[in-house]
Amino acid sequence: MNFSKSQESPPPINSNERIIQEMKEEISGRLDRAINNPISEERFSELELQLQNLKENFLKKGYRESPEIDDEDSIEKEIFASSAIADTIVEFKEMLDQLGDRFGKYRDWVGKYLAHENAHTNVAETLGYEKVGYATVFIKDENENLAFIQPLHFSKPQIDWGPRESLEKQLEVASAPEKYGDKLSDSDEANIEEYKKDLEELNQSDLDKEKELSEIRSRLNSNQ
Ligand SMILES: [Zn+2]
Repeated sequence: MNFSKSQESPPPINSNERIIQEMKEEISGRLDRAINNPISEERFSELELQLQNLKENFLKKGYRESPEIDDEDSIEKEIFASSAIADTIVEFKEMLDQLGDRFGKYRDWVGKYLAHENAHTNVAETLGYEKVGYATVFIKDENENLAFIQPLHFSKPQIDWGPRESLEKQLEVASAPEKYGDKLSDSDEANIEEYKKDLEELNQSDLDKEKELSEIRSRLNSNQ
């Protein structure tokens, strides 16, 4: 085979440009895969409910163990199959830019999500979560049309954190945008309310246990 140059070679691409170009293509591929595999609204709500049940179980029991950990992992896997993941803020910025190109500028993707989600992940990183990152979830309606595109951050707690440690850290992560001078989203506010309520219940159940113990102790003493 012969290759004959019909014109002068293009200027060489320096390695920085090549890395950026590869990253753009990588993000574009991740978006393609997720857009072609959206999760239904119904299934998404089901999974959210399952996660909620697992959480309540954990708060009651005080620790996580094998079947529940596996359940949580498989729910996470299913949601991620309909999501484009960004591991870093640079990738997330690129993802939001491409969402703007593909789905119109009517939503200010970068303005709405970049600083906000970054505030959450910055705090999660300082608190030592096992895994922290960004994702855009694609959700379809019953007619198989894209219904929602939801950019978000995620933070996976360490397996050995107890309920109190987990809740206190989640509360900090959820409140993070306020610290950075940004507004909380509706779902942040709902989460904050929920974590506060869970913490109060935890405090109450600790007090109840303490009371029960001191009653047992005083009964034992009076029997001596
Ligand atoms: Zn938020």
